[in-house]
Amino acid sequence: MDRIQKYLEHIHRLLHDNKIPELTGELADDSLLSQIHDELKIIREVLFAFSSGDFSPTVTIRGIIPGCLKSLQAHLRHLIWQVQMVEKGDFSQEIRFMGEFSTAFNSMVQRLSLSLSKLQEKEETLLDINNKLRKEVERMEILKESEARFKFLASHDPLTGILNRRSFIEMAGVELANAVDLCVPCCLAMMDIDHFKDFNDTYGHLAGDDALRHVVRIVEGGLRKNDFMGRYGGEEFILFFYGADEKTGMKVLERLRNKLSETSIVLETGSVTIRASFGLTGNGREKPKEKGYIQRLIDDADTALYTAKMAGRNRVILYTPELETRRHSVMPKVREDSGFTEDGKTL
Ligand code: GH3
Ligand code: MG
Ligand code: MG
Repeated sequence: MDRIQKYLEHIHRLLHDNKIPELTGELADDSLLSQIHDELKIIREVLFAFSSGDFSPTVTIRGIIPGCLKSLQAHLRHLIWQVQMVEKGDFSQEIRFMGEFSTAFNSMVQRLSLSLSKLQEKEETLLDINNKLRKEVERMEILKESEARFKFLASHDPLTGILNRRSFIEMAGVELANAVDLCVPCCLAMMDIDHFKDFNDTYGHLAGDDALRHVVRIVEGGLRKNDFMGRYGGEEFILFFYGADEKTGMKVLERLRNKLSETSIVLETGSVTIRASFGLTGNGREKPKEKGYIQRLIDDADTALYTAKMAGRNRVILYTPELETRRHSVMPKVREDSGFTEDGKTL
């Protein structure tokens, strides 16, 4: 009896003590007790590992309790794998053990799956909106480009690329009003290529077009930052000098006239020099803000240009009111050079 008592006490300690009791003395000699001791030791170790979340220790003994432990271990390992699959986005995972936990887990996975498909739907809608917006932006950019192109074409001369008459007058009007407000002097000039009809007749209309572009390149290239020019029509051009009084305007035009007569255009048949006449007027006179003032300046510059033509061409004339009376009386005929020379010879 005493021995059985010791057996039972040892088994009780194996089940309850924190530390595994040693098998000593006569108890160690009992093979059945040794076997029970070893088996309970394994079960203890496995349970301790499970309690800390470690399912790696394998149960090497047989029986109902080890069998239950093995089955629990397999379930828990599978559960870990299922959670990892859910983490990777596989929402088909379903648990069929651990009662309320499995109900909560399965409903959580279903909700995640539903939220994901809603998010995907929203993402598709957003992508769709994004695509439509991008196409709209592209369309607007094309429209903006063609609007800018259209504006450029409407305001520029297609042959030479400089301002056309209408936009020159508009721009000059703005600059003139600005100059009047700031008491800044400015000048307006008309320029007309000399004997351009003869040039066309001699070299052809296409060479004439090249010559117009050549003249614009030379004159525009010689303008200061605040000055601008436009094509008034045919072989006539108009220039605006901001911040220049009549004296400065005359100097600028003389420089441009010289530059033009010193730079020849190269044609297939040889190089040709083109000349032009200029008429200048300043804004120093009466009521500059009055309507039609720009047109009056143009008319005055044109009178000066007419005088330059009558006086023999290839020159710059400043407008004075006396020129008006001369314009309307018969002018004496003046001997003059042709408007252009070929290889240094006058045609
Ligand atoms: P002037 O010295 O008195 O100004 O004589 P001009 O021959 O230059 O003047 P006229 O008014 O008799 O002739 C102007 C010529 O300019 C006639 C016209 O064929 C030519 N012309 C006008 N526009 C163009 C153009 O765009 N291209 C070409 N090639 N010629 C043009
Ligand atoms: Mg001419
Ligand atoms: Mg003309």
